[in-house]
Amino acid sequence: SAHGGPPQAEAHVDLDAYRENLRLLGDLAPASALMAVVKADAYGHGMTEIGRAARQAGADWLGVATVEEALALRSGGDDGPVLCWLASPGASYAAAVAADVEVTASSVGQLEEIVAAGGRPRVQLKVDTGLSRNGAAPEEWPDLVEAAARARDAGRIEITGTWSHLACADDPEHPANELQERAFRAALDVVTAAGVDPGLRHLANSAATLTRPSTHLDLVRVGIAAYGIPPDPRLSIDLPLRPALTLRARLAAVRRVPAGTGVSYGHRYVTERPTTLGLVPVGYGEGVHRAATGRAEAGFAGRRVPVVGTICMDQLVVDLGDLPADRGDVVTLFGDGSDGEPSATDWAEAAGTIGYEVVTGLGGRIRHTYG
Ligand code: PLP
Repeated sequence: SAHGGPPQAEAHVDLDAYRENLRLLGDLAPASALMAVVKADAYGHGMTEIGRAARQAGADWLGVATVEEALALRSGGDDGPVLCWLASPGASYAAAVAADVEVTASSVGQLEEIVAAGGRPRVQLKVDTGLSRNGAAPEEWPDLVEAAARARDAGRIEITGTWSHLACADDPEHPANELQERAFRAALDVVTAAGVDPGLRHLANSAATLTRPSTHLDLVRVGIAAYGIPPDPRLSIDLPLRPALTLRARLAAVRRVPAGTGVSYGHRYVTERPTTLGLVPVGYGEGVHRAATGRAEAGFAGRRVPVVGTICMDQLVVDLGDLPADRGDVVTLFGDGSDGEPSATDWAEAAGTIGYEVVTGLGGRIRHTYG
């Protein structure tokens, strides 16, 4: 390879799995447009490739956080509808307009920045309905809508959508879901009362797409579930979603050790019997969570094996017991289970985090491959 050898570790992305997952999710909301959320390098899966796969699977829209991400999609060849929604001061709205990327306004101030960039931007209005994060607060809705209506009347913008984001969609019984839906309807009333066509109305992330048809409206924004990862492990999902990403590496060393051998920093693991240790050349430098130390597992030759001892920056150790093993054999950290490996969700539980963070945090010396 260009790097002079095989990668230290490989994140293999099964684009068929991604496409199939996305189709299944889109079928849950047949009357709604489908947006594939591909921010943060497609949750660590690779934005250009996932964006292309999403279009092949019927995504009408791609959704990203920043203007820069939207422009990266354009550089990668995507020319379909793209929406971005995160507003940092100094965002390059002029570049977004030039690249035909739709932008989101969460406040009057941000709308003014967008208008000042010139051109005739396509703007979606974001209203906060209870997440208390981004989006205009209810007391700001009338001002934002009136400012948008004035800019539209002056020919400075087009208003193409009105949307919000749910706080508790992964907990379907949570009362906030119903309250946010109600608040969103109230926001739409404010928009309509100002003589503004709200355009595309959208509210649903993966969890809401899976569990709350009343949130599907004109468009659903699907991220995590399309990567084959449940939004929350407690959410029971009827669809046969398949994890798209497999993290694997080749054993860099194999060593037979006696009982009583302390392994890795702090000797947090001591062998109880003679066993075979395998050295896996990935660690927290690749985004493999050190906090999973003592609880994580991996797949080896179709079996589940424990990750033992402290997870280090560049390496971790697996206890292979009496399994035959050689330097160069493949160890699978997480994936769809076909090599006996756990899922990203299992790693998340071991590390005290969520599946989103396990895949999105991958980096360092990992190379992506696609198939
Ligand atoms: N919509 C917005 C505004 C988001 O920020 C995200 C990601 O967090 C999503 C949709 C997709 O969420 P999920 O990955 O849970 O489907």
